[in-house]
Amino acid sequence: MSNSPSPLSSSVSSSVSNAVPHSSFTALVIAPAQVMRGAGLLQEAGAVIARYGQRPLLVGGKRSLEIVQPRLAATFEQHNITSAAALYGKACSEKSLTRMRQALDDHQGDLVVGVGGGKALDAAKLLAHQAGLPVVTIPTSAATCAAWTALSNVYSEVGAFQYDVGLTQCPNLLLLDYDVIATAPVRTLIAGIGDALAKWYEASVSSGHSQQTLVIAAVQQARVLRDILLQKSEEAIAQPGSAEWREVVDATVLMAGVMGGLGGAQCRTVAAHAVHNGLTHLAQTHSSLHGEKVAYGILVQLRLEELIQNSQLAIASRRQLMQFYEKIGLPLTLKDLGLGGVTVEALEQAAQVACAPASDIHRLPFEVNPAQLMAAMVSTTAPTDLTLKTMSFESVSPGLRNDGIRSDGMRSDGLRSDGLRQDPELTADSLSPNISQKISQKISQKTSSKEQP
Ligand SMILES: [Zn+2]
Repeated sequence: MSNSPSPLSSSVSSSVSNAVPHSSFTALVIAPAQVMRGAGLLQEAGAVIARYGQRPLLVGGKRSLEIVQPRLAATFEQHNITSAAALYGKACSEKSLTRMRQALDDHQGDLVVGVGGGKALDAAKLLAHQAGLPVVTIPTSAATCAAWTALSNVYSEVGAFQYDVGLTQCPNLLLLDYDVIATAPVRTLIAGIGDALAKWYEASVSSGHSQQTLVIAAVQQARVLRDILLQKSEEAIAQPGSAEWREVVDATVLMAGVMGGLGGAQCRTVAAHAVHNGLTHLAQTHSSLHGEKVAYGILVQLRLEELIQNSQLAIASRRQLMQFYEKIGLPLTLKDLGLGGVTVEALEQAAQVACAPASDIHRLPFEVNPAQLMAAMVSTTAPTDLTLKTMSFESVSPGLRNDGIRSDGMRSDGLRSDGLRQDPELTADSLSPNISQKISQKISQKTSSKEQP
């Protein structure tokens, strides 16, 4: 047996590798032990929840708890389940976790039930992990696959991303009640589509060359997931509750999680989520949803691949996604995210966070600095045909143009050594007039300093 580290071992997070030092074994953390789905499921859920505990603490936001608690009341009584509820607050933060831990102790809880979207479920999973208790997840929207995954994101009190925590297992039980999902605003489903789409664009970059069976399977699943979303999202959004809508809900809540679990940490995030993480440090973005920022982040990532790697596949992908985003209402630009008036300083702050040494942006097969990232961030809607014409392929090493796209649709690692070439579309978006100029200056400084050996 080989002792070389497997990418799958990294999926098991620092918490597990600490628990099992010097081990060449890898734990696969792929899926919840039990998944149940169906319309009206919660009203019947007492029996299955009772297998995991009799004194659950429900963790959620106000709206989610108001929707879910009445559905559980009768079935809880029938199965002698005594529950209490705790609001997770504004974010899954260290402070709110301490508060919820107290609520759990006060209730003498033996089970945590997470109710809500990504943040509430992340809080519930992490609370259960820390307390050594089982956890049940009840998603109330299709905005993320947090109900499935063995991962919690921790944010500051004001909602800025801090770090993520890998958990030792996926939830014990996931209850997907379509009636509950249908109560969420359609915007949450659209955001979930954006978050799930990112799986392909990120995993194909980070893991497209993997020779490992399960990672190959995960990357291919991400591609299938993208295709399902591209095909069915429009109809699903137009007809909530329809068969098509259920398939898209399954895609964003379940399949996105399957893919993440199978592929492990390597398949999870690259630049799209790094851009999201950077943007959370700007207060103006707190009104936009996780998946909306991630969807915008996909365009930024593709733009980086165009600008730095001269990837034609990235240009074609961006063209396809721009049309799709416009159809279903995902944000294409900073302006769409409520950042039309962003200052260059604020943008730089977000870019610095996204380019921090430990950031997943460095899983891209080329180096990225904050100035390059800012250039990509302000030009996500640069004309795709114009970009093709103005790219000077002659100036890069021969063969790259063809090598940039493999016949199987994977991106190659062929990268350009000359950093950022040009960005003819820096005046994109309705940003403050001098922002493009300032960013251009920063880029030319970086580029010229690179050219001088
Ligand atoms: Zn995400």
